[in-house]
Amino acid sequence: MAFADFFRNFASVGLAALLLASAPADFVHAEDATPAKELFGAVTLPTRGKPTPYGFYAKGCQGGAVAIPTDGPTWQAMRLSRNRRWGQPQLIALIERLSRDAAKYDGWPGLLLGDIAQPRGGPMRTGHASHQIGLDADIWLNPMPPRRLSSDERENISARSMLKPNAFLTVDPNIWTPAHARLIMRAASYPEVERIFVNPAIKKKLCDTWTGDRTALGKVRPYYGHDYHFHIRMHCPAGATNCKAQAPVPAGDGCDKSLAWWFTKEPWAKPDKKPDTKPVKPRYTMLSDLPKACALILEAPSVPSAAAATMGKSVAPEPAASDVDSASEPLPSDVEPAYGETGNVPIPLVKPVSR
Ligand SMILES: [Zn+2]
Repeated sequence: MAFADFFRNFASVGLAALLLASAPADFVHAEDATPAKELFGAVTLPTRGKPTPYGFYAKGCQGGAVAIPTDGPTWQAMRLSRNRRWGQPQLIALIERLSRDAAKYDGWPGLLLGDIAQPRGGPMRTGHASHQIGLDADIWLNPMPPRRLSSDERENISARSMLKPNAFLTVDPNIWTPAHARLIMRAASYPEVERIFVNPAIKKKLCDTWTGDRTALGKVRPYYGHDYHFHIRMHCPAGATNCKAQAPVPAGDGCDKSLAWWFTKEPWAKPDKKPDTKPVKPRYTMLSDLPKACALILEAPSVPSAAAATMGKSVAPEPAASDVDSASEPLPSDVEPAYGETGNVPIPLVKPVSR
């Protein structure tokens, strides 16, 4: 923590000096020039106080986040060094419940947890457009093994794609099981769940094979990537007035033209490149793009320790790599492909308007 503060101050001072040197006439506050992902990526602990999501899933932050224990009876958190086990308490409770229900009813031995959110949410240095307000979580599509993974294994084990290699958008029948379908449909069945993202091939598989109650199938939304993990998004909790809701999913099971579109060339086509256009420099999300409260969240006092803000106790001793200050070091950029950049899936270049 102290190190993180030091790092932030150091980075700010260094950057401010640089900016002042290059623009002596105008004072530029360092935070005005630093992408929000660097500011939020450098904070290692959540704020104290009432849990609150601010803004939208892909443009916001969170206060009063809690961590899921690294180990539960029916889950294990992966990639502990990323320090992204933080979410709103309703989401953490939902993940724990899903892990129990799936083990009890669905033949799914336990969840391997991917990213939830950073301690104060916000944009991330790597990997996600959303996951910013503590209401999104990634669950691996590999079942939990019947032993505790070491912290090294949690860093290095690869998730396994559900797609058939060298085939276009086809679920691999040697990997996919009915328990995968039950797990995803279980998650979709909870009323608190707003939508779920899966690869279009997985959505098609569910459309073609799911014989149970299909009322929640429309919540399962096809999207780029999501062949190694699925993504759970919760509704804004009751009373969370600063949380911006997403437009509801269309009525119906979604096994229609909107799904068929994913199996056309359009979503995977390369954009037309005009010969004389210069590549556009990416514009990063800045603190000023986020809800105003996020600037205060960034500066608000921390809880005393990660353990103090963990919801319940781990069933295993905390692996050494948990809660490390490595969040203040740059994460390797290849830790997780951005959406869509997954092995067998063509790289998407045209994004649909809504997710
Ligand atoms: Zn996700």
